[in-house]
Amino acid sequence: MNILVVNCGSSTVKYELLSMNDNTDNQVIAKGLVERIGIPGSRLEYKTNHQVSYSKEREVPNHRIALEWIIEVMTDPEIGVIKDPSEIDAVGHRVVHGGEKFTASILIDDEVLKTIRACSELAPLHNPPNISGIEACQALMPKAPQIAVFDTAFHGTIPEYAYIYAIPYEYYEKFGIRRYGFHGTSHRYVAGRAAKMMDKDPSKLRLITCHMGSGVSFTAIKNGKSIDTSMGFTPLEGLVMGTRSGDLDPYILLYLMEKENLSTKEMDQILNKKSGVVGISGISSDTRDIEAAAPTNHRAQLTLDIIAYRAKKYIGAYYAILGDLDGIVFTAGIGENSSYIRKTICEGLEPLGISIDKDKNTVRRREAFINSEQSKVKLMVIPTNEEFMIALDTYQLVHDLER
Ligand code: ADP
Repeated sequence: MNILVVNCGSSTVKYELLSMNDNTDNQVIAKGLVERIGIPGSRLEYKTNHQVSYSKEREVPNHRIALEWIIEVMTDPEIGVIKDPSEIDAVGHRVVHGGEKFTASILIDDEVLKTIRACSELAPLHNPPNISGIEACQALMPKAPQIAVFDTAFHGTIPEYAYIYAIPYEYYEKFGIRRYGFHGTSHRYVAGRAAKMMDKDPSKLRLITCHMGSGVSFTAIKNGKSIDTSMGFTPLEGLVMGTRSGDLDPYILLYLMEKENLSTKEMDQILNKKSGVVGISGISSDTRDIEAAAPTNHRAQLTLDIIAYRAKKYIGAYYAILGDLDGIVFTAGIGENSSYIRKTICEGLEPLGISIDKDKNTVRRREAFINSEQSKVKLMVIPTNEEFMIALDTYQLVHDLER
């Protein structure tokens, strides 16, 4: 079954065409992205499993035109991988917010699309482009089932006492203010891989999965289910991120807004775009730049110290709520690559049975154990693969439909 995975951002469409079957030899046939949609200089990038690599500029005013272009390239007689769009059997869409309604992936019909639209209020920057992508694919591939895979869904198992904030309860009832959590597809994928690596039944494992990319979230997973996660009502809460603050005393907002006479929009920019790694360091949002600067720059070193310190606090907290711990997984750009950050997070946690192996920890971008022999807790690096998870959900749901 050929499955197209579509991930629409405000000015990008990332795509992957995968051939899925019941065996384990699933493969990516083609992948790429269209960027700068609606901005001068739009371009498409495309790569196939037959070494074709293609990149071109063209005006792309909206997501529909972007997807038309993607299909045009994939069906091109010279560089294409399929002859006709009808060879795409199903489409899996990444949808950021599923609210309280969607706790699993689902076949998209009018009712589902309506609910996804209603969730836009909770993710005004993310759900609208996701919806544009769904509508474009429905028009371009009317026969292919469309499946929505939500970033929030995996966290649908978080108990009420962990998702309700200690503000007047009426705001939960009125506006749905609660912890939702994000990166769910990534946490679910790496937790599944961790169970395989450990050769254990996922329903018997207690894990902390650390997704550390430009956005950062940690999840406590008990017996295969998310029981708490660090991102909350929005992806702003929790750990230190590239440009986002993570946790802070909420009164700081009021104080700053008054002192600096800031509008809510300006405050939003500060918390989401000017804080985190770039805010503390004043150098860059990319931890590679910070690691390079740290030996001679106090604020760069301070940034790294804060990242590790906060990560330790979350690991300690999640260890406590899990009651015991079998494994910690590091994933996404930082988690998969930075041996320095992995090391500094684990340092000092030996009394908790967490001990990293210096040599094994040099690994990058591949699945590996990085714990020492005596470590009670297994430490793992696992490259995330949200596209594969979306394709797998799509494959399984479409299979169920056909039965
Ligand atoms: P996104 O969340 O945007 O998908 P990624 O998961 O690709 O991002 O992570 C991007 C981040 O990963 C970059 O901001 C960078 O800080 C970090 N990163 C990538 N490679 C390295 C590396 N070798 N060492 C340290 N950090 C890295």
